Amino acid sequence: YGDYNQKIDYVFKVVLIGDSAVGKSQLLARFARNEFNVDSKATIGVEFQTKTLVIDNKTVKSQIWDTAGQERYRAVTSAYYRGAVGAMLVYDMTKRQSFDNMERWLEELRGHADTNIVIMLIGNKCDLANLRAVPTEDAQEFAQRESLFFMETSALESTNVETAFFTALIQIYRIIS
Ligand code: GDP
Ligand code: MG
Repeated sequence: YGDYNQKIDYVFKVVLIGDSAVGKSQLLARFARNEFNVDSKATIGVEFQTKTLVIDNKTVKSQIWDTAGQERYRAVTSAYYRGAVGAMLVYDMTKRQSFDNMERWLEELRGHADTNIVIMLIGNKCDLANLRAVPTEDAQEFAQRESLFFMETSALESTNVETAFFTALIQIYRIIS
């Protein structure tokens, strides 16, 4: 890391999707920079962040795209999905509606993305356990039915965030290499 002449073997584009306020931007900040911004406003302007890692002695640059407040249904453009080899489908486990909307997001994703895109379903905000509105089993069942990977995370407490991204990236690597 920090070597600007470093040879990059692969670049993987991964998109974050899901309703507004589920924690997509915070998950990205946690993964890419190990940050959590207490006073974060809705994402403006930033298209993606990158993180480079080594898988199997290959240098993999992940380019993680974040919606810039375009979460309204069908407002995310096809350019956003273009070339994506992975998708993080995020809901807020304290907001049932954000989970129920996963079906729609998945449909939109499948309508735009490559057929063998790797999809990780993420139930974020697991630090708010006492406010849980989506049982783990409901999400597991949905993930199984739709052939998605699944993980519960907390961007705030840093729970499972790296694992969720790494799992998706390793899976992408297996498909592409
Ligand atoms: P986005 O609209 O999906 O990008 O959501 P943001 O990342 O902007 O987060 C929306 C709100 O949820 C903000 O107030 C965040 O501080 C909060 N948030 C994000 N992730 C977590 C988390 O893991 N736990 C808790 N308790 N709050 C979170
Ligand atoms: Mg955001």
